[in-house]
Amino acid sequence: MADTALMPIPGNIDPVPTPREVTPRADGRVDLIGLPKKRIAELFEAAGLDAKAAKLRAKQVFHWLYHRGVTQFEAMTDIAKTMRPWLATRFVIGRPEVVLAQHSSDGTRKWLLRTDDGQEFEMVFIPDADRGTLCVSSQVGCTLNCRFCHTGTMRLVRNLTPGEIVGQVMLARDALGEWPKGGGTMAGLDDDEDEGSYSADGRLLTNIVMMGMGEPLYNFDNVRDALKLVMDGDGLALSKRRITLSTSGVVPMMERCGDEIGVNLAVSLHAVSKDVRDEIVPINRKYGLEELLQACADYPGASNARRITFEYVMLKDKNDSDEDARELVRLIRKYKLPAKVNLIPFNPWPGALYECSTPERVRRFSEIVFEAGISAPVRTPRGRDIDAACGQLKTAAKKLSRAELDRLAEEKQAALG
Ligand code: SAH
Ligand code: SF4
Repeated sequence: MADTALMPIPGNIDPVPTPREVTPRADGRVDLIGLPKKRIAELFEAAGLDAKAAKLRAKQVFHWLYHRGVTQFEAMTDIAKTMRPWLATRFVIGRPEVVLAQHSSDGTRKWLLRTDDGQEFEMVFIPDADRGTLCVSSQVGCTLNCRFCHTGTMRLVRNLTPGEIVGQVMLARDALGEWPKGGGTMAGLDDDEDEGSYSADGRLLTNIVMMGMGEPLYNFDNVRDALKLVMDGDGLALSKRRITLSTSGVVPMMERCGDEIGVNLAVSLHAVSKDVRDEIVPINRKYGLEELLQACADYPGASNARRITFEYVMLKDKNDSDEDARELVRLIRKYKLPAKVNLIPFNPWPGALYECSTPERVRRFSEIVFEAGISAPVRTPRGRDIDAACGQLKTAAKKLSRAELDRLAEEKQAALG
């Protein structure tokens, strides 16, 4: 059990720098997952290797961890037999603990995971005809409280560490059996034999979206460090073009996201007027629509080939009129945004205040945007039967009453200042 005190989040609103110190475990060993190669070399050197050996071993170990997916030093066959126990007494290769693995009738899979200090969070895998997308969490819960999102009703929030973030990708590869032969498999994960293969290298997991629990740009450093490991050519080697980060609109961090991570950007827009967005996406009171759209226009790397995705949840009689659709088009044009729009039918959860727009309304809205030359597909909800669809992720067993939900929303909104 690691000795990890709850990582405090100093202030709800401004981006929280959370440099990750290596967390010593109760047994004194250090978990290598989540650390860059350079840091691994430093630790090896501090443990007694000379600089050159430390660097070489770090390179080898990194390859075994992220390319081969092994979870035991004993399996690292190009490392001297005597060296392996030396490593194993000082270091571990961690994974988030799997509490529950669920399988939807549509093939979507959801895992309830637990950190070393007992915090629960979720990840979801969505297989499609031509891709497989892993929906990764960045926080336990979310400090924001978008009115239609179940995650926003979680009181407890803690940033996930780089290891816990990249650990989700590692676990997914474990579960899908996608490490090169001889790679790690973990007990407790049910491997599927026959789900077909999508990518050129035969892997099911082709894309990553930072759209699980939490606001990734409130956990910027850890998300960046984790995604760097995901993109590292010596390791998991996923292209940044296959990774999308979704933000509710943390404007001050958007430029750094483009510069320092360089992944595709999705923005949870959901409304086109100040009034409605203030209500349903409360961070709008802090960073308004104009500021947000300007930050999108300035997003490093956005182009017609790499469009910004605007997510728009369809809420009956709230944001789904023809005028809303036309205003959306006007704003996209005004800011000359290389944009596509994803229309998300609202996924209900117990106690939610909204209903989903009718299918006809969603279709009409989509047509108006589409007729203006902007792609506006309607996303099919996936994994609803296991509460794996957008906005349904919420662990903490305790169900809050309507009055408690309202109080929580007020508290979180007050924190927005
Ligand atoms: N916090 C980030 C990423 C996680 S949410 C963000 O807000 O962008 C992923 C997407 O699901 C967001 O667009 C979010 O607004 C949307 N979503 C939340 N609750 C939903 C619900 N009940 N039905 C449909 N989509 C929802
Ligand atoms: Fe947080 Fe995103 Fe849910 Fe809003 S939609 S409460 S930002 S997870």
